[in-house]
Amino acid sequence: MMWSFYEPVKVFFGKGVLAENGEVLKELGKKALIVTGSSSSKKNGSLADVEGVLKKLGIEFAVYDRVGENPSFEMLRQARQMYKDEKIDFIVGVGGGSPMDFAKALSILLANPELRVPEIYDVEKYFKMLPVVAVPTTSGTGSEVTQYSVITDDDGNKRGFGTSFTFPTYSFVDPTYTLTMPKSITMSTGIDALSHAIEGYVSKKSNPLVRLLAREAIRLIKENLETAMEKPEDFEAREKMMYASMLAGIVIAQSGTTINHAFGYPVTTFKGIRHGQATGLFLVETLKVMAQEALEKVEGAVSVFGSLEGLKEYLERVGVFDVKVDITPQEIEKWSERTSKARHINVTHGKWDYDTVKGIYERVASMLR
Ligand code: NAP
Ligand code: FE
Repeated sequence: MMWSFYEPVKVFFGKGVLAENGEVLKELGKKALIVTGSSSSKKNGSLADVEGVLKKLGIEFAVYDRVGENPSFEMLRQARQMYKDEKIDFIVGVGGGSPMDFAKALSILLANPELRVPEIYDVEKYFKMLPVVAVPTTSGTGSEVTQYSVITDDDGNKRGFGTSFTFPTYSFVDPTYTLTMPKSITMSTGIDALSHAIEGYVSKKSNPLVRLLAREAIRLIKENLETAMEKPEDFEAREKMMYASMLAGIVIAQSGTTINHAFGYPVTTFKGIRHGQATGLFLVETLKVMAQEALEKVEGAVSVFGSLEGLKEYLERVGVFDVKVDITPQEIEKWSERTSKARHINVTHGKWDYDTVKGIYERVASMLR
């Protein structure tokens, strides 16, 4: 067996890490751009902490606080236009996966002025980016330790990219910032992390070290997600969720996500269901198909839940299926067309033809009516 492991991010983890270790930012330059969402980072203390560190170090900064959920080409065009002449040295992404992914994409566009926005997916067309610093405030995407950035194109398609140099340089992972997450966002982001760990475990690219980390992430999520949902102020549960989602991020940085993630994308874009929850809807159904080719791996991934049935009961209990949406047969056809060609299939066990994909969309759609 041959495998590799690459994780070039300096991570600072724990309560108060920014104040304690922020001085490393000094080496990144004289002018920073903070990118963040419109409101949560102002309430959970993360934005003030980042600003405080930059001020203390005498680093000039601008704040772009218009990153919406599921960042789009349009948002990127706007921000690039605003900052292209500002001589930004590095970008700090503060928030959930959306601002962190946005930071990565914008840093590529600012470092490569000739690159057109849709070309961010063509990773062979560029070789540099501005350094990115990640400050996560959700415990879900793991973007603080991945090379990936997921951006929605002009047609509403979510697509990810990532290559060996698109990892953040530094990540400050402080669970304190997640204490303000409401129950629904805690659930959705926690299920995203669970999906990363499970999908990374069963991916064709997984390896023994990946599976070791994934097992720990899955165990921690099962033991702590419901506490974090019911007792939002429980620091220990929040800390364990943050650690688990980071581990799950390291997992997908190595082995990628499977077709299960591709299943969820249109449900987020066109039906407004948050990424993690959308991903969780399909998990059991997609694992069943993967098990036809890789039973042992699937059993290993879900062993904490006893079985696939146990995983299903868990997902139901935390509320993944508590949503009503109407998905039309035409939508199912269109989505199946796209998902059955998703790049994720390269790392996904099982046979993934159009009819298999359509069958899964139909079964899940019928559960949500
Ligand atoms: P998000 O889209 O970043 O944020 C979702 C919502 O949560 C926003 O309304 C945000 O408010 C709010 N929020 C964030 N932190 C909060 C806090 N501490 N307290 C209260 N509310 C908070 O959510 P996400 O699930 O973290 O990220 C999802 C995105 O990441 C998707 O685009 C997904 O495709 C992508 N993703 C990336 C990777 C990767 O490896 N790069 C992996 C999986 C998913 P504000 O807008 O006010 O901040
Ligand atoms: Fe995800």
